[in-house]
Amino acid sequence: MARMTTTTFTNRYAGTCEYCQAHVAKDQGIYTWGVTCCSDEHYKLEVARHDARIDERDHDIWVQQRDLFIPNFITELGLDDAKVAKLVTKITEGRTTNIADLTSGETPKMLRELHKIQDRRNNTKRINEHKLANRCPRCEGQGGADKWNATQWTCYECGGSGKYSRSK
Ligand SMILES: [Zn+2]
Ligand SMILES: [Zn+2]
Repeated sequence: MARMTTTTFTNRYAGTCEYCQAHVAKDQGIYTWGVTCCSDEHYKLEVARHDARIDERDHDIWVQQRDLFIPNFITELGLDDAKVAKLVTKITEGRTTNIADLTSGETPKMLRELHKIQDRRNNTKRINEHKLANRCPRCEGQGGADKWNATQWTCYECGGSGKYSRSK
């Protein structure tokens, strides 16, 4: 059977992974067939889906999200049942507490909520590391950055000291 030839690109714009709903920054991840993927692993799923579609087989993303990505992500984050039920209730506006009942419209929302939890945790961890090292979390202790030249080079968070303590 003939396969459509395609070219894959690194993302030219920031986007969201079709599979796990992770934020994909500009120049990261893979962009193909109009779909953004965060990693090689999720790009392979897109290739499989693309081939399946050509073979006219059903291969929905949201079923993978519901049965695989969401449960795995919950395990990775170590969320307890009560927390999960609370999230599902929020997303389904009280319809259900069960992941298995999530619809195709709700699975990406659930993944985004899980990413938010992960991002918050990572950010707290990062801030605490900077605090311990007495290093400004914004400029990473540099006191400023060339990327801020358009406004002013000096970091407004630490006033150029590069220290965590905010005594400017
Ligand atoms: Zn992904
Ligand atoms: Zn700073």
